[in-house]
Amino acid sequence: MPAYRGDRLGFNVLVGGFFSARRCEAAIPLDAWVEPNDDVVDLSRAILEVYRDHGARANRQKSRLMWLIDEWGVAQFRDQVEMAYGRALLRAAPEDLIDWDKRDHIGVYPQQQPGLNFVGLHVPVGRLTATDMFELARLADVYGEGELRLTVEQNVIIPHIPDSRLDVFLTEPVLARFSVQPSPLVRSLVSCTGAQFCNFALVETKQRALALAEALDQALSVPAAVRIHWTGCPNSCGQPQVADIGLMGTKVRKDGKTVEGVDIYMGGKVGKDAQLGTCVQKGVPCDELQSVLTTLLTDNFGASPRSIAPVTHEGVAVTVV
Ligand code: SF4
Repeated sequence: MPAYRGDRLGFNVLVGGFFSARRCEAAIPLDAWVEPNDDVVDLSRAILEVYRDHGARANRQKSRLMWLIDEWGVAQFRDQVEMAYGRALLRAAPEDLIDWDKRDHIGVYPQQQPGLNFVGLHVPVGRLTATDMFELARLADVYGEGELRLTVEQNVIIPHIPDSRLDVFLTEPVLARFSVQPSPLVRSLVSCTGAQFCNFALVETKQRALALAEALDQALSVPAAVRIHWTGCPNSCGQPQVADIGLMGTKVRKDGKTVEGVDIYMGGKVGKDAQLGTCVQKGVPCDELQSVLTTLLTDNFGASPRSIAPVTHEGVAVTVV
C-alpha cells in the first residue's frame, strides 16, 4: 500500500492473502515499509525465498504463504524475511495513503507528462484472441510507445498517446469492441475461464456472465459501478469474494435434474478499507439469475428499470414499469 514515511513515498507491505477452495484470507500487514526502487524487488525475493525454504509446498492443502505465517506468527515470519533480505527492515509507516475508491482506468486520461494520455480499453470478460493482441500491439506501436498494460479487471491500457493523435486513435475500428465507454455492469464485469477451457469448472462462466450483464444493462439503470465477479468453481480464480456481487459456480437440483447454478457472495471491497465478502445465497440455478440479480441490484445498489424493452437472458423476462 502506498504510504509516506516522513516526506518519502514508498509502500507498506502486506503478505499472505489468498483464495482457494479450502480457505480464503485477506493479506495482513508485515509491519515493513520499502522505498519504491530495487528494495521492492529484493524484499519480494526475500519473502519468496522464506516461503520456498519453509512453506508446506508439498501439501496441496496448505501450500500457501498464510499457512506458514499461521504456524510461525507474523513477528517470526518478519524476522526470517529480514534475515533473507540481508539488512534491517524499516517499520511500517503509520498510515496508508490510499484514500480513494478503486478505479478501473477505462477511458481517456491525461498523464502526468504534459501532452500525453493513457487510454483504458474495456475487454469484455477479458477474452482476447491472438488476432486481437496483434491489433492492440499495432495500436500501441502506431499511437503510443509500443507499450501495453494489463489490469486486474482484465482490461488493457495503452499509455503515451500524444494529444495530437488521440482523436484519430479513438476512431480505430477495434474500439467498437474494446470500448472506452462500455455499459455500466459490463464495464465492471470479471470472469474466470470457466467450463469452456477449464476442467475444474462446474459451470460455463464467461459467455453467460457477458450475456447476463448486457441484458441487465439494457433492463436497468444503475447509478454507480457494481463489480460483478464470476468464478466457475470454489478455486475462486475470478475472486467472487472481492466483488460487490460474486457468483461461484456450483451444481443445483431443479425439477428433478442437476443444473448449473451459483452461490452468491456480497460485501467484498477493494482499495481503501478492503474486505472479503461472504456467501449470502446458495444454490441459485443460472436460469433464475437475471431475476435474482435484478432484485439484488434494485434493493442494494439503487438500480431502477429503464423505460425501454429489455433483452432477456436464458428465458427470464424482466418487468419494466
Ligand atoms: S475458478 Fe474458474 S478458472 Fe479457476 S479452476 Fe475454477 S473454473 Fe477453472
